[in-house]
Parts: sequence; structure tokens; C-alpha cells
Amino acid sequence: MQISAACSFLFLIQWWVDRGLVARKKGSFPDNQTFLVLACTLSLILCSLLSTTLFGIVYLNLGMIPAYIGILYGTVRSGILLSIFFLVCNIIIAEPTGISNMILNSGILLYPLLFGLAKPFKKGTVVEKIGMLWMVLCPNMLFIALVPIIGGKNIYEAHSSESLLITLYLFCTIALGGVFVYFVEMVWSSWRAKVHMESISDNFQWESEKLQQITNVVPLSIISLDDHGVVTDLNDCMLGMARIHYPNLRREDIIGKPVREFFNGSADADAYMRVRNNIQHKRRSHERMIHGTRIYQIYSAPLMHKNSGLTSGVVLIAQDITDEVKLRSELDHVERLSLVGQMAAGITHEIRNPMAVVRGFLQLMREKSSDDLDSYYQIVLEELDRANSIINDFLSLAQSRISDKEKVLLHRVIEEVSPLLWADANLRGQSVELKLNASIHELELNVREIKQLILNLGRNGMEAMGSKGILTLETHSTQDKVELIVRDRGIGMSESQREKLFSPFFTTKREGTGLGLSLCLSIVERHNGKITVDSVEGEGTVFTISFPLVKEEYSEAILAD
Ligand code: ADP
Ligand code: MG
Repeated sequence: MQISAACSFLFLIQWWVDRGLVARKKGSFPDNQTFLVLACTLSLILCSLLSTTLFGIVYLNLGMIPAYIGILYGTVRSGILLSIFFLVCNIIIAEPTGISNMILNSGILLYPLLFGLAKPFKKGTVVEKIGMLWMVLCPNMLFIALVPIIGGKNIYEAHSSESLLITLYLFCTIALGGVFVYFVEMVWSSWRAKVHMESISDNFQWESEKLQQITNVVPLSIISLDDHGVVTDLNDCMLGMARIHYPNLRREDIIGKPVREFFNGSADADAYMRVRNNIQHKRRSHERMIHGTRIYQIYSAPLMHKNSGLTSGVVLIAQDITDEVKLRSELDHVERLSLVGQMAAGITHEIRNPMAVVRGFLQLMREKSSDDLDSYYQIVLEELDRANSIINDFLSLAQSRISDKEKVLLHRVIEEVSPLLWADANLRGQSVELKLNASIHELELNVREIKQLILNLGRNGMEAMGSKGILTLETHSTQDKVELIVRDRGIGMSESQREKLFSPFFTTKREGTGLGLSLCLSIVERHNGKITVDSVEGEGTVFTISFPLVKEEYSEAILAD
């Protein structure tokens, strides 16, 4: 019974650890040390209540084991309280009575040693701790064994059953002390290992969450597969990409499925086979693959265990390069076109000289020929002029140097060209309407080019209208730009026409050159502006050209406001 009472504190500690009540944070009550001291106190009370004497002379109370363990593990304060408590228990319950007996039984003389050992005890190893406990327990047990001799009763006769039992009691107590310390150490160390494992697993979880978040942020589509090509994980970007081909797809629909199911729609069977081979052979590779209308660059790399060097699964990174491929082919096209354009510009320029000679001689011949040939000469000369104007348009289109600009009011330019527009409109029975905003800001313009722009747009508008049509020129001014709007109420244009509108040589007119709008676009671009078209078939067309105000004009405009 004494043994069970003495080891009851061990059960309490085990229960405390198993229930997970262990104090993990500093400052929580009761902390592990306090709980141990409380458990020891409880054991001590139980032992004292059950204490008795062997043969009426040797005091039998194993309470000193939990008491000493409590003092050694606890703080100085809890140690003092525990030792006082142990003394009180001894005084109340101790048998046999008498001051000297009590002093010897309680081991009070050993307390200075006990408190002296408490500090090194906490830092010692298990064996050192057991040794330190024994340093106090052994003399204490000797004192207890001496009590009957001091009392004048020598019960230690050779081979007597009493002396054997008492010796057994002494050794058992000392051995139990060692076992208890060992047990306490085991419980604490298993708890520490558990806490350590938990913190490692928490760290691991956080690291993997962090990695997941990072892979979701990067603008790359990443998917990982196991050795059998089954999807194990994918990032948000990859999910978004998969949804282009399979709308309403959820993450759960992909994870755990063989990746080949998602390549089935691929028209590019060869590329798919190559990617599959690379996955199977765990090779690093990159392949271009066409899936539906999109083009992807797929990088694959095996995942390796760092220590063993064994591969386990593959990671695939897919990049949508559709726009890049399109841009590259357009760039090639533009490069080829610009080369052809440069050559054409050179040739056209050279054509102008012989044409001027031809025109001069034709005029001479016209003067010297009879009048009935005059109409023919007229036609030839007009056609030559038309060819010349096409060449002029073409050359201005090819011109890309920074044009000479000056600070002018757009209204001034419009007023200068309006007589020409009026003359043209009068011939067609149409009219021109000007809606000019009074407070418009000055712009850096190349007057010659802007005149050409207004004339081209105005003429196109007039050509699109029948007689009585009204061509409207409007200006608007906002804080950061000035807008010129050319509006007609003509035939309008279809969607397909609108797409090709600014392509050189696109025309729907029998005598058109198809260069007018290309020229307008290049003029607007040279002024860093924008040109937009709104058109409704049968109702009319609106061209809006916006010129940005440069910084200094912009701040002046704000001040003026
Ligand atoms: P061109 O006037 O020599 O045909 P443009 O480049 O000026 O060449 O115009 C290209 C084509 O765009 C025209 O043939 C016409 O079909 C269409 N277009 C341009 N402006 C208008 C407009 N205001 N209304 C309807 N169609 C237009
Ligand atoms: Mg035109």
C-alpha cells in the first residue's frame, strides 16, 4: 500500500501528460513544475496516512520519496513549503514519537543538502539525478534504521527475519526512488519529443501552405503528377488555364485523374506523345503543343528525392504562348512589309521624274495639236495627275520622320481648309457644318498634315453621302486632350469593312486609291493621337481623332479651368 501511495504521483503526471493538459506557454497555471509538486504532496499525504511501523520500531513511510523528488524538481519556494508540509505530517502522524525519532525519521538534517542539490539536479542527466536523490535518500534510510538502536532496542541480530525485512525495506525504498526519478524523466522526455514533433509538423504544414500560396501567385501554370501520370496537385493559374478548354472544371475533378484525359482534345498528337514520353522517362524537356485554338509551351521536369537521388513524379509547367506566337508572326510580316514599303517608296520617287517629263511634253504636244485631240490630252493629263497624287499619298504614308510642328489652334487649321471643303461640298450639292468649341487649347501640330487629314476625312464623308448631305466638323476639349470629330450621314460601313479600313489600298470605290485613311492613321500617330470610328450602316459614320495635350499644355489647361 505504501508503494502504491508513493507512486500515485506518477499516475497523476502520466494522466496530466496524456490529457494534453501540459503547460505549453509560460505563465499558465498550474505549470508543469507546480503540478509535479502538487502531485508529490498528494502522494506524501497518502503515504503519511498509511504510515506504520515495522515491528513497532522502524518507521514505515515512503512519503519521503515523493517529498524529496518534489523538492528537487520544484522551485526553492515550493520546496520549502513541501518540506514544512512533510514535517507537519511527521509530527502529526509519526510513530514512534519523540523529538529525536522525528528528526531522524523526517531526515530534517539532510534538508540543507537537499536544497543544495536542487539546482544541479535540474541540469543533470537521468543517472546524475538518480545519484543525487540517492545522496539524500541513503543517509535518511540509515537514520531510520538507526532509530531503534538509539531507542536501545537492537533488533538487528544476525539472520533474524526482522533484520532481513528491515534491510529489504531500506533497499526497496532506495531502488524505488531511482525508479521514480527515471519514470518522471521518461514521461517528461516523451512529452518533449511529442511537442517537438508537433512543432515540426506545424512548421512543415506552414511551409507547404506557403509554397502553395507562392505557386498560386506566380503567373505560371504548374501541375504535379505522380509516377503513373496521375495529377497530385495544381495551382490556380493552371486551373484557370484548364477552364479555358473545360469550363466549370473544379480542382477536385482534376486531382487524382490521369493527366492524359486533359490532353485528349489536343489536335497535336505528336506533341502529346512526346510530352507523354518525357513524363514516362522523367526527362527534362520543353515541347510546343496546340490545344484547341491555343498554343502552349510545356516544360516537364522530374521531381527528385535529394538524398536518395530517386525520382518521384513530375512537374509540368505550361505557358500560353498564343499571343507571343501571333505577335512574332505579325512582326515578321511587318518587317517584310516595311522592307517592301521602303523599296516601293524608292521606286515611286524615281517614277515621278520621268512622269514630270512626260507631262511636260504632253502639254507641249497638246498646244501644238489640233483642237479635236484636246479631250484626249485632257484625259491623259488627268490620269497622269491622278497617278501623281497616288504617288504623293503613298510617299507621305511611307514618311515616318518627325514632322515639323508648331503651336497652333486647331480651329485655325479647320478655318483654312473649310473653303476647300465647301467648294467640294457645293459641287455635290452638300453642305458643311462647323461646331467649334470656343475654349480650345493650342496644340503642337504639323499644319500641312492636319489639313490633309481633315480633307481626306471630309472627302470620304462627302463621298459616302448623297446630295443634300451634311458634313459636320466638331471640336471638343477636355482636361487632357482635344478631339476633332468628322461626322457624316452617309451609307456607313459594315463590320468587315471597318476591320480593313486602315489597311493600305483597301477601297470600295471604283476610282479610290485606298491610301487616304492609311495616311490619316500615320498622321495621327505622328501626333501621338488616336483615331476611332463609329459607323452604322445606312445612318452614317463618325471619325474621332483625339490629340493629347503635352504636359505643359495640360497644366495650362488645368490652370485655365
Ligand atoms: P479611298 O477613299 O481612296 O477609297 P480611303 O482609305 O480614304 O480610300 O477609304 C477606304 C475605304 O473606307 C473607302 O473605300 C470606303 O469604303 C471606306 N470609308 C472611308 N470613310 C468612309 C465613310 N465616311 N463612310 C463610309 N465608308 C467610308
Ligand atoms: Mg479617301
